[in-house]
Amino acid sequence: MRSLRLKLIVGSLLVLGAVVLVFSVLFYYSKRHDLYDVLDGRLLAETQAVARRMEISQGRPAFDAEDDGENRPTIPKHFRIIDERGSILFQSPSPPSFPWPSDPSPAKNPQGRTIESGPAKKAWRVVSRIENLDVDNDTNPAAAAAVAVTIQCAESLGPIREEMEELASRLVLLSIVAFLIAGGGSFLLAGKALRPIRRINQALDNVSETRLDQRLNPAGFDRELHPLIGRLNAAFDRLERAFGRERQFTADASHELRTPLAAIINSIEVLLRRPRSTADLIDGHEENLRTARSMQAIIEGLLLLARMDAGKAAPAKQTIRLASLVREIFAAVESAAREKKVCLSLEIEPETIITADPDQIRLALGNLIENAVRYNRPDGKVTVGAAAREDQTVVTIADTGPGIPAGHLPRIFERFYRLDPSRTETTGGCGLGLSIVQKIVEAHGGRVSASSGPGGSIFTVALPNE
Ligand code: ADP
Repeated sequence: MRSLRLKLIVGSLLVLGAVVLVFSVLFYYSKRHDLYDVLDGRLLAETQAVARRMEISQGRPAFDAEDDGENRPTIPKHFRIIDERGSILFQSPSPPSFPWPSDPSPAKNPQGRTIESGPAKKAWRVVSRIENLDVDNDTNPAAAAAVAVTIQCAESLGPIREEMEELASRLVLLSIVAFLIAGGGSFLLAGKALRPIRRINQALDNVSETRLDQRLNPAGFDRELHPLIGRLNAAFDRLERAFGRERQFTADASHELRTPLAAIINSIEVLLRRPRSTADLIDGHEENLRTARSMQAIIEGLLLLARMDAGKAAPAKQTIRLASLVREIFAAVESAAREKKVCLSLEIEPETIITADPDQIRLALGNLIENAVRYNRPDGKVTVGAAAREDQTVVTIADTGPGIPAGHLPRIFERFYRLDPSRTETTGGCGLGLSIVQKIVEAHGGRVSASSGPGGSIFTVALPNE
């Protein structure tokens, strides 16, 4: 059952059905019990009336059937008197068409029983009561005794059965009506209860990729739905920010690639404008090669970020000696450092180890050390240190450059963010390096942060120990 409305209707009808069934059964049986009680009371009174017409004559019980007009109890229509052995002493002139219960001494006194007889299962109610008749002994009063007889009075249960059948059909009719009313009511109520969901749906329809700034107003909804609306709005906020970043990223990427591409086209057009000397052609090709390489770096950086975003570049971790790794990176940046007269200093204990993907961590630390050289002052210094703590190893890359102004610091890890884009030409950076560093460190479960002052910047990479 996939429809919420159907579930609500069926659920409420099931509850109502159970209530109506229990109520009807209880009502039916308590009514029947009451009617049987009244009938038993009447039949008991009849046995008493019969008893008042009995006497002991010549030591034997006798019944006085005479109606002499005096104020005597009426003789019931169906009754009989039996002795202790079950022999009939007297019975009404119109005996009923059912076998009397033969038991002369009922277990309870009085006792009511229902007897069904005949093919039509006609039912009768019989009340049996033991009556003790005193036998006087005039000659010897001490020898006075009592004779026990059982008086049975009967009445057809037909009228009660008819009344019960009538009651049952009324209860069935009432249940059907109650069901119809409840079914209609729960259909309307379910519709009302589900209306906010339809309204949320309509509101969601209005939110599209191009109108992500649309929000749901909680004021128009019931209090219980406010947390849901809050969460939906928060999800839209995140979605809007993510789409915004995506748009910005695409725009930046196109822009970053368009500029060098335009430079290459322009350079080739200039070269082709007239015949060139071999030296001019070599110069032109070298310049184009540099620009093409910077484009290649951008594209490779973007591909790496895309693969990491898609979770397709999970780090293949292994134990690495940190000092050896940093020495390898120093060797790679050595010529750039020498050119700038920047001194590279390694302050890491030889036994310090980290658990990381060697290629990825080489790329991350390489980017940070390269930046520390590139953005340093001439005759500056780059110091790479490490501190092994209980649960993590903290690697620091400190430089003596002019530092990063506080306003830029929170944004330097954003993709394509550069403090001075115009310096790209000379420094060669495209603003993806720190985003890649952050992505790699986070994929290792670590954190990268930067602090900076007039004396230089310090980048800190904290990697969890495993
Ligand atoms: P890029 O490829 O331009 O170096 P990054 O993402 O590596 O890109 O760095 C982003 C920007 O942060 C750089 O353009 C630079 O302005 C600044 N930056 C990065 N590292 C340093 C540093 N050690 N000292 C000063 N500025 C830095």
